[in-house]
Amino acid sequence: MIWSSGWLTEPSSKQDTLLTEPKSMQPPPSRQTCAFGEACSSREGGKEQGPDLCPWCKNICLFDLYKLADDLGPPYTGPVRRLVDAHRNHLERDFIERLNKPWPLPCAIKDPSMRDMPWRRNFNPEDDKPCSHVVHRGQLCQRCYAKAQEQGCEWLVKEFDGDRYGFPCVFEDARLRRPQDLAWRRGPGEDADWEKDPRRGHAPCGRRPRRYQLCQKCYTRMNEMRGFGRFFDETHGILRRQYR
Ligand SMILES: [Zn+2]
Ligand SMILES: [Zn+2]
Ligand SMILES: [Zn+2]
Repeated sequence: MIWSSGWLTEPSSKQDTLLTEPKSMQPPPSRQTCAFGEACSSREGGKEQGPDLCPWCKNICLFDLYKLADDLGPPYTGPVRRLVDAHRNHLERDFIERLNKPWPLPCAIKDPSMRDMPWRRNFNPEDDKPCSHVVHRGQLCQRCYAKAQEQGCEWLVKEFDGDRYGFPCVFEDARLRRPQDLAWRRGPGEDADWEKDPRRGHAPCGRRPRRYQLCQKCYTRMNEMRGFGRFFDETHGILRRQYR
């Protein structure tokens, strides 16, 4: 079975390890000028030509930024593409550094592993402020979450659980702790390792792109046990409709 986003299989919470945030030493970029000049979409007529991308444009997805740079034409395209490259490299470095330290993480729109996902390519917060930081990987910052709701984004309803991309494993889903959920949680009762139990050494659950789905770790543990197909779809580990 192939999962498209590897990180979804990893536990993604940093809630327990947050310390203080590092102080940024860079001055905030100017809001008056933008490397895109008149083509900057932050306001009617754009901005005065400047040496860097403005904060509004830094919230735009990379795919669109490269396209905007190409649309400028020579002699602007080359230098502006290099600014977009620098912006992309900065996002990647910042993300990796924060992942490896007990710091809050960048917003999902700044997550390099999400940059080519359709939801990201379709979303522009249309705002002059930078993102704030978040606790969970794949979480939208407050501003982006509010803007996505305001814009009525369909992807927010389909692909996000509140402000977080993806969904919890069925064993971790707080909505699936009703009395009737005991049936699938315990399964046929033939294998003690069926139900996820950290005391039995089961790894922490990851997240999934779909609701009602087992995480990769639970799927791997369970999918060859007898009776699996009665409760879960065998290929994707999705809880059968009658148990939801
Ligand atoms: Zn701009
Ligand atoms: Zn954000
Ligand atoms: Zn799981």
